[in-house]
Amino acid sequence: MKSIVLLGSTGSIGVNTLIIAKRYNIHIEALVAGSNIELLNKQIQEHQPKTVVIAHEADRHKVNHPDVRCGNDAILTLIEESQSPMIVNALVGYTGLAPTLKATSLGKRVALANKESLVVAGAFIDMSLINVIDSEHFGLWYLINERPVSKLYITASGGAFRDWELDKMKDATFSDALKHPNWSMGNKITIDSATMTNKLFELLEAKWLFGTSNIDAVIEKKSIIHALAEFKDGSTTAHFAGVDMKLPIAFALSGEVTDEVLPPTDLLSIGNLEFLPIEAERYPIWQIKEHVLQNPHLGVVVNAANEIAIEKFQHEQCSFFGMSDIILETYEKFNHVKAKNIDEIVQIDSEARAYAEQL
Ligand code: NDP
Repeated sequence: MKSIVLLGSTGSIGVNTLIIAKRYNIHIEALVAGSNIELLNKQIQEHQPKTVVIAHEADRHKVNHPDVRCGNDAILTLIEESQSPMIVNALVGYTGLAPTLKATSLGKRVALANKESLVVAGAFIDMSLINVIDSEHFGLWYLINERPVSKLYITASGGAFRDWELDKMKDATFSDALKHPNWSMGNKITIDSATMTNKLFELLEAKWLFGTSNIDAVIEKKSIIHALAEFKDGSTTAHFAGVDMKLPIAFALSGEVTDEVLPPTDLLSIGNLEFLPIEAERYPIWQIKEHVLQNPHLGVVVNAANEIAIEKFQHEQCSFFGMSDIILETYEKFNHVKAKNIDEIVQIDSEARAYAEQL
């Protein structure tokens, strides 16, 4: 019987992962969650994991399990002790990096939703151990099929403000930005979609996964097409699938899927399809897209500044566009750095955070 350790079980990807694990009879060796103890307790009852890790010691007494551990170091120890050959990393943000590195250093396969791991430290991660959980990269993988490609494309929905007047966006609030038009996801990735930072991250993710910087993104408002591959022979193919992460998760967990995970796309109900450019006026982070793609080691700087910017926006310490200002200013300040190892990544991350914090 297959077995996994699931990091981030109470999140949007985590919940879908448990549905897929149940469907394919995959054993859950351990669950890792943050603060949503109520949902975690339900998951414990249903999946009977051997070990549980939560973020905070203060919540320990609320968890109905005999082996509860707390904090980030406990996640790493759990991975070390685990018998499962696969770790599903559905943690959000920089916290996800250390578990990815720990798991790959032990030769374990990582079903990786935590895209920040690749954005921050793609150069130091063994890609042969990664099964990506992201709809666009799953789409690219599905399309390429060992044929010679000349260019890759991923699509963006445009996020919460794609149809807003630019002037109105200046006053947009955190809760406005959480209203994603197509996907239901965790808070951070939903904000990252509104700023288009998520798509920049996905370009970097694709760079590490597919070994090319010849990749771009376009807006496709219906989120029906997730990726396109342009082949050397002049053909272009597109990946259509429903707006549901269960399909990429099923492939990441099982390797191959032959039964119906999602209903097929109903072509006649789609109507028109439209591709639009991503404009830097609405998504200022797009100004640095080409530079970041040519200098993917700078992902650590963008990620650090972005995490600080989101916190500030959430606490009303900056405006929606203020987030982009923080990222772009930090990027300019640190655009000469290049980590030679993970210790230097950690150092650059903390320096970039400190700089972004005082802006
Ligand atoms: P969520 O915010 O919904 O979930 C995050 C999970 O991480 C929760 O289980 C949360 O626990 C847990 N967590 C957060 N901090 C800690 C901590 N310090 N210790 C232990 N657990 C912690 O995020 P998503 O599921 O949306 O996204 C997860 C990752 O997947 C992100 O990197 C995202 O970019 C990526 N992704 C997500 C997609 C989606 O459709 N949602 C699509 C593609 C990629 P709790 O809630 O209990 O506090």
